[in-house]
Amino acid sequence: MLKVVKFGGTSLASATQFRKVGEIIRGDKNRRFVVASAPGKRFSSDIKVTDLLLSCYRLVREGESFEEPFGQICDRFREIIKELGIDFSLEKDFAAFHERIRKGASEAYIASRGEHFNSRILAAYLGYPFVESAEAILFDEKGRLLEEETNERLGAKLSQYSCAVLPGFYGATEFGDIRIFSRGGSDITGSLVARAVKADIYENWTDVSGLLMADPRIVENPRSMEVVTYRELRELSYMGASVLHEDAIFPVRREGIPINIRNTDEPDHIGTMIVERADKSVGIVTGIAGKKGFGAIYIEKSMMNNELGFGRRVLSVLEEKGISFEHFPSGIDTMTVVVDRAALFGHENELIHALQKAVQPDHIHLVEDLCLIAVVGRGMMGNPGTAARLFTGLAKENINIRMIDQGSSELNIIVALEEKDYEKAIRAIYEAFADQV
Ligand code: ASP
Repeated sequence: MLKVVKFGGTSLASATQFRKVGEIIRGDKNRRFVVASAPGKRFSSDIKVTDLLLSCYRLVREGESFEEPFGQICDRFREIIKELGIDFSLEKDFAAFHERIRKGASEAYIASRGEHFNSRILAAYLGYPFVESAEAILFDEKGRLLEEETNERLGAKLSQYSCAVLPGFYGATEFGDIRIFSRGGSDITGSLVARAVKADIYENWTDVSGLLMADPRIVENPRSMEVVTYRELRELSYMGASVLHEDAIFPVRREGIPINIRNTDEPDHIGTMIVERADKSVGIVTGIAGKKGFGAIYIEKSMMNNELGFGRRVLSVLEEKGISFEHFPSGIDTMTVVVDRAALFGHENELIHALQKAVQPDHIHLVEDLCLIAVVGRGMMGNPGTAARLFTGLAKENINIRMIDQGSSELNIIVALEEKDYEKAIRAIYEAFADQV
């Protein structure tokens, strides 16, 4: 059994957190390859080391002094080292790093040092070898990951070790120039390592006990999801439920390696298992997620159903204006296009005019205060009564539904509602399925 474990920023934000991480790793001899983030927030008003590093970059570029954030960064690492009581120093590295920033180091290089330094401390603390990600995670000049080359290099490199700590978030080009993933990208590093060493499981340790069935800021004490499939997760994260970087799924999914989301502060909790395929019988709804900030274009035209190419012409107008659509439900003589409201902003009249010209509708109007809620669950497939339960729940709360869309996979039902009903609706839906198992 081989486990790759990735620890996020809050899990490595202080010496106290490092000790918990040490216990978790020592508690299971299979946890052999460790990927570390930069120190994150210790309390809600704290600043992540990555953000302090980015401030350094910005200040130098603007010709200002970067001493203040730089000092804070060094102090965060010094404090961790001191409180862990390890015989390890980064003082020489700090001096060299200061010099590089002063001479105009790249943004990616500067941003990557949070993971770099933190992983070296963790390696020293655990007594594990440190493996430099820049030597195995390969990017092209434009900053795109070269996944297959990375897999080969990383696999070859790590086959020489029985255990190691690697920094997350970055790699390098073939010329050694550092490149980073987008924010939260250490999750991707963990997934790449898991694939490269053919791990049995990729444990992603963070500050929540897995994914919750609904947003805890809206629903009090929601149930956590024990098992979620990759496809369900994709639907839920598209709607804003996120504990994992979206791109972290692909490397492990390809190899059929499950991801286990775990909580460093509650290590005995089993967390959430993300898998390719799962039993259907665990309940109807796996999760509920949603987003505000949508608008819709309502188009009506009699005999629309007979007019060949109508939908294509509508979508072409959107394409020309650079607006991507989210949903596209249609009736016999009506059609609704749901779009991100931000894309409409300031272009409303222009868009209506272009659509009038393209399809000569009898009636067209915009609505700009919609939210979308997705009810996702592999258990919904072939299960009569699911939609009835959902709509009864909303009706009981007197919530008006503006649009309904059930994907052909029967994996989700999406409803559009007025934004003012968002929180009430999430609670109503959660209640409607609360007794499902
Ligand atoms: N430290 C980086 C960030 O704050 C990457 C990560 O933590 O995954 O986004």
